Amino acid sequence: MRKIIIAIDGYSACGKSTTAKEVANILGYRYIDSGAMYRAVTLFFLDNHISLTNPREIQKALSEINLGFHFDSNESSDIFMNGINVEKKIRKMRISENVSPVSAIKEVRLAMVAQQRKFGKEKGVVMDGRDIGTVVFPEAELKVFLTADIQTRAIRRQHELLERNQLVDLDEIISNITTRDRIDSMRKESPLIKAKDAFLLDTTHITIDEQVDETIRLAFPKILNKKK
Ligand code: C5P
Repeated sequence: MRKIIIAIDGYSACGKSTTAKEVANILGYRYIDSGAMYRAVTLFFLDNHISLTNPREIQKALSEINLGFHFDSNESSDIFMNGINVEKKIRKMRISENVSPVSAIKEVRLAMVAQQRKFGKEKGVVMDGRDIGTVVFPEAELKVFLTADIQTRAIRRQHELLERNQLVDLDEIISNITTRDRIDSMRKESPLIKAKDAFLLDTTHITIDEQVDETIRLAFPKILNKKK
């Protein structure tokens, strides 16, 4: 069977990662969480006090960052930065509050996109993010764009954070995802936008299993190379 690239984009906390991970698992594909890469860069920038307005400092910092994913037997994929597992650190609110301005920087995007294209070179990849179907892999065989109402997204994110032992107020989460969506959609460099040929999936009233089923249903004709 031919291997394809599946791009899953959309707003913050729509269930992109959970869907992408499960779809990758079912198809035996690699799952790449592009948001984790921007979060890791943000962690590095914060810890090293990198000025977001100094392109030289940014370039130097980027040249010092080495990112990779490790998959364990539970099918969870952890991101490693310079050999250290930073998965837990990058999920903290400190990173969520700073990631969108860092992701809007041209140099940062160029470096991440180049790395993401390498990850997808062999195909057989499910990648989620904001610009996967528009910029990273405009030729991806399947593009899905997820959306959901803000209240639903915030409650889902609050549960996710609770599972990581972080108790965060719902209003704080709503404010964070609204701000991130605004910055991500308004930025000059590869803004968050639905690709023309992406399937729009509103996840407000459907379960994760249904999101996964729908994505697999859309993927099959592409894998079998049937026009649909
Ligand atoms: O997917 P996640 O919510 O973890 O992404 C965190 C942030 O990373 C987003 O709010 C966005 O600013 C940035 N991002 C991006 N392009 C991507 C993936 C994520 O700009 N492809």
